[in-house]
Amino acid sequence: MVFVSKLPGITVPDINLVEYVLSECENRSGADHTLFVDSSTDESLTVAQVKSQTFRFAAGLRSRYNIQAGDVVAIFARNSISFPIAAYGIVASGATCSPANPSYTPKELAHQLSNSHCKAIIVGDGFHETVAEALTHVVHPVEHILSMDEARKCAPHSIYEVMEAEPDTVADGTTPFASGQPASFSTAPAFICYSSGTTGKPKGVLLTHANMVANAMQINGLKQLDVPTQKAESFETFLGLAPFCHAYGLSYVLHSSVALGGKIVIMPSYSFESFLQAIQDYRITFGYLVPPIVCALSKDPRVDRFDLSTMHTVLSGGASLSPTLIEATELRLPGIKIVQGYGMSEMSPAVTMLSTSHRNPASIGVLLPNCEAKVIDNDGNEVGVSTDGELCFRGPNVMLGYLDNPSATLEIFDDQGFLHTGDIGYVDASGYFYITDRKKEIIKFKGFQVAPSELEGLLAEHPDIEDAAVMAVYDDSQATEIPKGYFVMRKHENDSFLDEITRAHAVVAWLHERIAKYKRLRGGFAIIDHIPRSPAGKIIRNSLRTMDHVSSRES
Ligand code: AMP
Repeated sequence: MVFVSKLPGITVPDINLVEYVLSECENRSGADHTLFVDSSTDESLTVAQVKSQTFRFAAGLRSRYNIQAGDVVAIFARNSISFPIAAYGIVASGATCSPANPSYTPKELAHQLSNSHCKAIIVGDGFHETVAEALTHVVHPVEHILSMDEARKCAPHSIYEVMEAEPDTVADGTTPFASGQPASFSTAPAFICYSSGTTGKPKGVLLTHANMVANAMQINGLKQLDVPTQKAESFETFLGLAPFCHAYGLSYVLHSSVALGGKIVIMPSYSFESFLQAIQDYRITFGYLVPPIVCALSKDPRVDRFDLSTMHTVLSGGASLSPTLIEATELRLPGIKIVQGYGMSEMSPAVTMLSTSHRNPASIGVLLPNCEAKVIDNDGNEVGVSTDGELCFRGPNVMLGYLDNPSATLEIFDDQGFLHTGDIGYVDASGYFYITDRKKEIIKFKGFQVAPSELEGLLAEHPDIEDAAVMAVYDDSQATEIPKGYFVMRKHENDSFLDEITRAHAVVAWLHERIAKYKRLRGGFAIIDHIPRSPAGKIIRNSLRTMDHVSSRES
């Protein structure tokens, strides 16, 4: 049984993503509308300024660095007011933007830079050392390094210097979209985001202009059911905290919310207090959050010190949020409605969302416009309503495939074009979707992906490890999964049990030097006698939970 979206359909225009987003924004809110505000500096940009900077940067990328359609330019930076200018400029020029997680270690970054064959990289303040080291591991030369900030730091040029050398073309109506564009917006990637998908090392997810225009339209199609007048939407002030290196931050914040003509308050880094302060100071009305922040809203005493009365909606995505937590938060903050969105980087990312006018705290929402779904059992057979199975989706927002990885692409799509998510859930008779479990081996720490096999591969390189596995444990206090290690230690003669524990701690410290902070074994480790494996060598993860001998939590 194939489930089809009941929402009004969309027609995706054949257009550059940035042209779509900025022209929609200007049509709704006008050129003088304040579009971006940086909460750390209070700096702001109007729609006209964003257009001018974006167009000039796109022109400079072409003229000074010969960046063309087909080239990839990476960004390695935190959220800032310069981020959208850099990303929009790359995409407007016809090239592809590949944003990397700023928590990456040099080797993790090098993997993305090599895999995406990136020609240039734009580096945020504080990240030049990581980039310099990453470049020593990259297999091909990255030709140009630009600094994202006005101060030049180690990079020879900043994006501002590049744009300032170009004439302002907005007034005479010249745009970068008139020439130099890819042959087809439905096959040219606007972004290559990195995701493990259902397993393994991060892979390059090819998100075309058409995928991302579609997703912005789909999200807004649902939102407009709640706020039917365009004018009302343009008065929204959205929180720009979700990382722009992830499809969540790109699609919900930089594409759909901008296309709605809203104002975006960009937060470069997160602390709970600065988040509350930003809501109060900037009168934020709509927040894109992850479950651990919703959890803090439900119980942290600091909430009472701030005026959050402007905020009417929180959309939580990236990981499961329990109905109990939704109810507790709504009880504490009665002015706020909490809805969930569900998706995956490979789907740009949103595929289901709940509208605020429908109360269903257990649900991840209904199918977005033009999306189809099926639920399959272990044998690949489609099941009907209210029966658990793997959720599979098809729609204009679903990626083209993985970059240079036909086998992984073939594995995630079936011959009907449905993407198999690795998530287990069901659809009810009214078309609401629910997540009940996860089949794939991905851990979500505060919305960030941790691939157990990546950590297991590294652990296997350590001389004191005979065998190792990594699994998720749930931390109720923070409403997130955390990774936990299971170690079989290599035996040393005359080793006491205490020596073994000391060596296991050293293994953890060794591992943590090699991985981004969000991948750390925050669930501690257990020393066990053997890792349960199937005859084919696959880890039997369910048996692991019962095997804890020694455990230690990271402080
Ligand atoms: P990513 O590609 O990083 O966005 O991760 C996608 C995965 O995050 C999905 O396949 C789910 O396992 C999980 N996920 C995203 N949103 C939700 C949600 N609302 N509820 C439960 N899991 C979610």
